[in-house]
Formats: sequence, structure tokens, C-alpha cells
Amino acid sequence: MTDYRVRMSDRFLEAAIMGAIEAYCHGDGFQTEIETIGPIWGHRRFKGDEQIIFLERLAVSLSAERDTDSVTPKAEATALMAEVMDRLAPELTLLGDFHSHPYKDLDEVNRNKGFEFSDGDFNSFLADDDLWKRNLDGPVMMVITMCKLNRVHETGGKMIRYNVWQFDLGQYRFWINVCIGFLDGDGQRQHTGNKRSSVWLDLDSRFFNLSGDRVGS
Ligand SMILES: [Zn+2]
Repeated sequence: MTDYRVRMSDRFLEAAIMGAIEAYCHGDGFQTEIETIGPIWGHRRFKGDEQIIFLERLAVSLSAERDTDSVTPKAEATALMAEVMDRLAPELTLLGDFHSHPYKDLDEVNRNKGFEFSDGDFNSFLADDDLWKRNLDGPVMMVITMCKLNRVHETGGKMIRYNVWQFDLGQYRFWINVCIGFLDGDGQRQHTGNKRSSVWLDLDSRFFNLSGDRVGS
């Protein structure tokens, strides 16, 4: 089975946080604490059994239908953004999409297993023909979950599982979870799931050195 190492640019992370927090705090002008969604661009390379996926950019999809517990993108809007990015940055591939999970507080996140992908997320991911056609090596789905904290303590980023990171920003807590699709031996669409995922979200690796690793020898 392929292992997936997922990295992201600072620009990507900033845009994901901005998109999620605006939808949370100010919504669409009619309601707050709503979900947001948008396409992800990046590139991938292969190294033995490992696929390295770099998430480079994202765009927030304004025309998506938003609610507190669902968000549906307009296929035409995604196609339009894909065509624009083909001209602006043809070296990038449309890899998949991100969406946000807004929750009131930590209790609500814990009660709902809020930072996990929902069954609905997995179902729409598996059914997205266009995304799978574009990504024969597997599309990407990311969820950024957030809630408000009652107390703000000094914290750093924390890996909850290989595919899930947690961090705080001001009085808000965030989680990032990533899932990759793949075709099984029968050509059926599968995904790496929530737990026991083969995705390694490699967010803090600049100075990480493997034991016994050597270069140039
Ligand atoms: Zn979701």
C-alpha cells in the first residue's frame, strides 16, 4: 500500500485558516459559523512506495451553497477556477478540495468527532467523477475544523495522529485532517479514511533527520 506524505506551503495554510475563520466569524452576511469550501492545487512526486503530495494553493469558492453543517460547491465554478489556474500556474494540478467544519466549542468538537471526515464527506469524495478523472493517482480531500476556546493557554502545534494536526490561533482551535483517494486492485475507488490512515501530514519536518540517513555518499 502506498504511503502518502503531505506537505503544504505557508501560503496554502494561511489561505485555509483565513477561509475557515471568516466563514466562522462573519459567515456570508446572513448567517455565521458556516462551512466554506474550495479547490486545492499542488503537485506530487513518487519515491519508491511513497507518494509525496505538496499542497501549494487554494481558492475559497464564493458561489458554493453554505450552511452550518454542509457546503456544496458549484461544479461550473470549480471548472472556471481550474481554467483560470491553468493559465496562471500551469505547473500546478487541481488535486482536490478543502472544506471547513465550524463548531461552537471544544465539547461540541469532541461529541461529534468534529475533526474527522463525515460519512457524507467520504460519499461525495468518492462520487466526484471529475476529481477522479483529473487525478488518476488519487485526489486529495482536506478538512479544517475550528472552534472557540474558553481559555487561551500557551500551546504549540500538535500531531494528534499522522494525518491530523491541531493548533491554536488566538481564542480559536484548529485541526487539519487530510485524506487521499486511490483505486484498489479491482479498480474501485477507495480512500485512506480517518483512523489507521496511511497519510503522514508532514508539517514540521524542516530539521527532522532520520536515524542512519546520509547524503552524498
Ligand atoms: Zn465535512
